[in-house]
Amino acid sequence: MSLSRGDLRELYQEVIFDHNRSPRNFHEMEHPDRVAEGHNPLCGDQLTLYVRLDKGVVADASFVGHGCAISTASASLMTEAVKGHTVEEVEALFRDFHALLTDAAPPGRDFGKLEVLAGVKEFPVRVKCATLAWHTLHNALIGAGDPAKTE
Ligand code: ZN
Repeated sequence: MSLSRGDLRELYQEVIFDHNRSPRNFHEMEHPDRVAEGHNPLCGDQLTLYVRLDKGVVADASFVGHGCAISTASASLMTEAVKGHTVEEVEALFRDFHALLTDAAPPGRDFGKLEVLAGVKEFPVRVKCATLAWHTLHNALIGAGDPAKTE
């Protein structure tokens, strides 16, 4: 059975709805190796991201904050997607994910569940909501002290 475009859109919306309603890894972290703040002034999305690193691998990631459905679902999906991956892999995934949302996805890249956010490409303002958690993660990984801004 193949899914029509309409079916697919509905499925994607369900995943986003689910991750917004019950975000995964939504909690503060005790003894994180990295913490970073993110703020998207255009929409009012705000989050704090926690990362635990183990020999260059993202061993754990969690977040708290408040924002629109897209920003919350994206942060939730991101924390699931990056766990167990090296910092280099995570940075590469961010680059490709950003391309998926703004330009064109690199051919052959499997985005898994992150694919559900590809629809925001049609809404440039929403791209900032969907990438806020990733910008914040990037800052956490490079150890930048300044809050991540989507501007
Ligand atoms: Zn937002």
